[in-house]
Formats: sequence, structure tokens, C-alpha cells
Amino acid sequence: MSTDVDLGSEPYEKNREAGEILQTVRAEAVDRIEVGESHLELAEYVEDHIRELGGEPAFPVNVCIDEEAAHGTPSIDDDATFGEEMINIDIGVHVDGWLADSAITVDLSGNDELVEASTEALEAAIEMVEPGIDTGVLGDVIGRTIEGYGYKPIVNLTGHGLGHWEQHTTPNIPNKKVPQGVELEVGDVVAIEPFATDGRGKVTEGNDEEIFALEREASVRNREARQALEHITEQFRTLPFATRWLDVSRAGMTLRRLKQRDIVHGYPVLKEEAGSLVSQKEHTVIVTEDGCEVTTR
Ligand code: MN
Ligand code: MN
Repeated sequence: MSTDVDLGSEPYEKNREAGEILQTVRAEAVDRIEVGESHLELAEYVEDHIRELGGEPAFPVNVCIDEEAAHGTPSIDDDATFGEEMINIDIGVHVDGWLADSAITVDLSGNDELVEASTEALEAAIEMVEPGIDTGVLGDVIGRTIEGYGYKPIVNLTGHGLGHWEQHTTPNIPNKKVPQGVELEVGDVVAIEPFATDGRGKVTEGNDEEIFALEREASVRNREARQALEHITEQFRTLPFATRWLDVSRAGMTLRRLKQRDIVHGYPVLKEEAGSLVSQKEHTVIVTEDGCEVTTR
């Protein structure tokens, strides 16, 4: 992006609007979380309120517990409730395809230091953001801050650029030092998201899959599949959606059918090793002439 980019233009205004909606619903989510509260009710409350405030969820509200790091969201008949656990809530909002992405950890397990580690790492990285900063330098400060607490950063999860109707674009923001990053430029919109863990520092794919996204356009003959595909193409485009968002009968089976034909792809839950804990903190920032503007706080 060139240096004469207009940070007051409509796309950035919509990024900011998405960020403001996100701040409101994130605070409400934090207030509602307590032992016994339903995962499904929390996710639906947040998603509904995003819509009432004039945005759309950019992806299903992620509810990840303990060793789960990303891509968990309640199923349509989910009866899980919160216990004395480490709870990561990741929320995305868009206004006309312009996005904000932010996550927070609510700790009911008595491990505040792990939450502090990801929080401090994010603050340290945000402090350093300015035009010309190398993303590898940001990764280094994130990794070192988390290690300073005696924990590990999750190195195979990264922050990312946010594009129009695109939740993950370049550049990646690593959570450890990398030899060659890229330089951020004025006008870049990026999500920075450190993950701290007492596990091995690397996630693997679990079996559960409740989040999907369109991979390619195609025509299908099956009635439910055709309805689902129309709904997906019109509402979500290539943004991620939840099985429970599809207003068709047998949504799970329909999605498996579309996945088999590579028309949609799934996002399996990403997990640390069993018995470990993960904390995450994420904000979206716009790179400005002399630093950055955090749209999600
Ligand atoms: Mn996120
Ligand atoms: Mn993100």
C-alpha cells in the first residue's frame, strides 16, 4: 500500500465501525461467562447482538476450552457449559466485508499468569508497530515476552492481514522470531494474536469440525446442498461459517457432501497436548504514519 493512503476513507471507517461493535459484544461475552453458562447460548447471544448493532459475524464465535486453541464453535444442539476452565473467546465482525478480529481469554481455572503472558506479549507487539517494522521483529518480541513468563508461544499459529471479505491475508504476524519477515506499511490492517501455553508450543488438528468456508463455486443437484450453497455464496462469500448457521435440514450431512467434492473446506479444532492450557489475546490494528490505531479497544 502506498504512503498516500487515506486512513479516513470509507473502508477504514468500516474497519473502525466493525471494531466498535466488536468491543461492545466482547465486553458482554466476558460479563456473561461463568460456571454453568451454556457455550451455545453465549455464541448465539454474541452473534445476534453483532447483527443488531449493524454488523455481521465475520466468522462463528470461537469458544475454545483449556488445550483447544482455535476453531472450536458450538454445534447446533451443543449442551456444553463452562466449568472451572481456561476459556478463549475469539470474535470477528464485518461491516460490508471490512473486518475486525479480536480474542480474549477468561480464566476460571486459576492460572492468571498464563493469561498475563499472552496479554503482555500483545501489548509489547502493538507498542512496536509502525511503518517499516519487520513482522519477524514483532514475532521475536511476542515469543520472548511469553518465554519470560516461563511459557511457550504457539509457533504454528500466527496473526494475519485482514482484507475485504478476506479473514486471512498476508502478511503473517509470527509468534516467534523468524529470519525474514515483511515490513508493515501505512494502511495495513493486521490482526496480532499471541497464544501462550504450558504445552509443547505447537497445535495439531483434532477431530471436531463445526466451521467451514467456501472453496470454489460449483453447481450441485441435491436440493439441500443447492440451498446451502446459495445461502453460503450470498451471505458469507468466502468467510468462515458454522454448521448451525445453515438454514437447511440435515446441515451436517449436507456440508459433508459439499466437503467431499471440495466445494467447502473445514476448519478442524486446533489443540495443544491433552492436559495443557492455552491463552490467547488478539487485537486488530491499522498501521498509521507514526504507529498504529487499535480498532478493537
Ligand atoms: Mn481471531
Ligand atoms: Mn485472527
